[in-house]
Order: sequence, then C-alpha cells, then structure tokens
Amino acid sequence: MKAICVHKFGGPEVLKYEEVPNPMPGLNQVLIRARAIGVNPVETYLRSGSNPKLPLPNTPGKDCAGEVLAIGNAVANCQIGDRVYTSDTVTGSYAEFVLCEAADVHLLPEKISFPQGAALNVPYGTAYRALFQRAQGKAGETVLVHGASGGVGTAAVQLARAAGLTVIGTVGTAKGAELAKQSGAHFVFDHTKPDYLADIMMATHGHGVDIILEMLSNVNLGKDLTIAAMNGRIIVIGSRGKVEIDARDAMKRDVDIRGMMLANSSEKEKTAIHAGILAGLENGTLNPVISQQFPLAEAAKAHEAVLKSGAYGKIILLP
Ligand code: NAP
Repeated sequence: MKAICVHKFGGPEVLKYEEVPNPMPGLNQVLIRARAIGVNPVETYLRSGSNPKLPLPNTPGKDCAGEVLAIGNAVANCQIGDRVYTSDTVTGSYAEFVLCEAADVHLLPEKISFPQGAALNVPYGTAYRALFQRAQGKAGETVLVHGASGGVGTAAVQLARAAGLTVIGTVGTAKGAELAKQSGAHFVFDHTKPDYLADIMMATHGHGVDIILEMLSNVNLGKDLTIAAMNGRIIVIGSRGKVEIDARDAMKRDVDIRGMMLANSSEKEKTAIHAGILAGLENGTLNPVISQQFPLAEAAKAHEAVLKSGAYGKIILLP
C-alpha cells in the first residue's frame, strides 16, 4: 500500500509518499480502507520533532474515515463493509489502509461523507471534551470560541449552539466570519481588530463570558482573564509558546484556567465523546465543514496549509 512515512524530523518535505507492506489485523483489531484522512495541527508539531521520543520511521495521523476491510476474530463492534471513522490508529492514518484497535473504530452514519467522517475525532472530540467535560458548559451560559473558523472552533460552535449556550466566536477573516455564523455563532468578532474584547463585553451586557475555549493561549490568555465572568472557566486547547498573565485578573472573579488534551480522556469520557458526536450527526446539529482536500501524496502541502491563518473548517487528504 501507499503511505506517508517520516524517517527524520523536519519540515513538510520529510513527509515521503512510499510503498509499505499492508498491515494485517490481530485478534481485536480492524483494518480500514481509508477514503479520507483528517489533517490536524498536532501532526505538524510531531513531524517537526516536538516529541523526540516518537519512534522513526512513522506514519502520521489518528483520524480517517473509510470502510472496514478485515477484522480480528474477537472484534464485535463492527463488520466487514461498515462505514467507520477512527479515534486512534496502530499504524497511522496517512495511508491507504489503516490498522486500528477495535475500540478506536466508530460507525459513521450514511448521510455523513467520508471527508466529514475524517473531520470528526480530533476536532469534535476536542471541542466536546473542552465544552462539556472540562468546562462543564450548561444551557444558558455564554461561551467564547476564541478561534471559531478552524476545525475545533467550528465543531465547538455547533456543539455549544445545539446545547443551548449563547455562542460568541472570533475569526480573522470575513470568510471565517460567515462560517462561524453558519455554524451557529450568535455573535462573531474579528480577533485581529484592536477593540474586539470591548465588543465581546458589550455582547454579554458587561457580565463577561462564562466559558472561553482558547485556541491560541500564548497570544490571548492574559486578555481572556479580563473578559471572563465571575466563576468563569478558560479552557486551554491550543498554545504555541509562552504567555505572561496578570494572576490578579483570575483572583478578581474566581476564574479557573483549565488545560486539556484530548489524549487524556478516560475510556468513560471517550465513550461519552463519541456517543455525543453520533447523536449530533444523527439529529443534524453537527455538520463538519471541509475547506481543502489534497491527494495523500501531497501531504506536505496540507501541512503547510493547516498552519496558515484564514482557517475555514477542515483540511483533508484523499488516498
Ligand atoms: P485550525 O483549523 O488551523 O484553526 C485555528 C484557529 O485559530 C482558527 O479559527 C484561527 O482563526 C484561530 N486563530 C488564529 N489566530 C488567532 C488569535 N489571535 N486568537 C484566536 N484564535 C486565533 O486548527 P484546529 O484544528 O482548530 O486547532 C486549534 C488549536 O487547538 C491548534 O493550536 C491545535 O494544535 C490545538 N488542538 C489542541 C488539542 C488538544 O487536545 N489540546 C486538540 C486539537 C487541537 P483565523 O484563521 O480565522 O484567524
């Protein structure tokens, strides 16, 4: 089969399109023919060497959607031919065939396309965990999705809107603003404008924001503390460097700063995440938006694209 292989850490050029042996499923494993593969920013960090202990060579990626090709004898949650999406893999998702543990394979409703299926796990899983498991978001609260035009942000807007929160999104482009509105944001502001924090405070009638889902904490955390409501919760989803904050801003309104990693989810939390995603897909409140699709062989271009500003939903590879 063809797969992307990383033999040494470095820039996008280290993503090599190569012939590798087809994997075979063990007792509790599932082999999937990938039809679409999700590209997430974390794969660019790992490719660059953010985790020097990561074994080389490796095939990047956790997210794909496709059909079940073969299953081990002990697999009970899917059958050959089922449409599925993944939440982790054994062999990496940037490949034609993807080997997974059965627990990381989830049925994909008929009405959801394979590219949309490949956009579920990291974006929607992260948004769900941030909003409901870390922030304990409830109907009637206000949430600021700070970065509402990308994969996690659009997912968070859709999840929050469906759950009855008032949703404020920020974006960096007019196109991104349209997407955030279509996804369900009640208010959208431009995070490149100097006065957008004042606009957010006005939108909350001076109350402040109950929950902030933060995609770029190294830029925004200090400012977030100044617009949080009493007992506000700031969820650190993304951060690309250090940040200085005035801790007194957290004291003033009993604000919590809560970090999160999707990979830290317990088995029980993972079950809740994927049940929540499935329910939203079935009732039509969740609708992944695909911005760009690249052939698998052009994974390097996808890695360049996913780090550019002007996000518009999700970037996908097609094997
Ligand atoms: P993405 O699709 O590339 O989206 C990035 C988002 O950040 C866009 O909405 C972008 O808006 C926004 N952004 C850019 N500048 C910003 C600023 N100054 N303030 C606020 N937002 C800004 O990436 P993604 O997949 O949604 O991931 C978002 C972040 O979360 C990444 O850093 C990723 O590594 C991280 N992440 C963490 C976890 C976890 O487990 N903790 C899981 C998934 C992702 P414009 O382009 O419109 O400016």
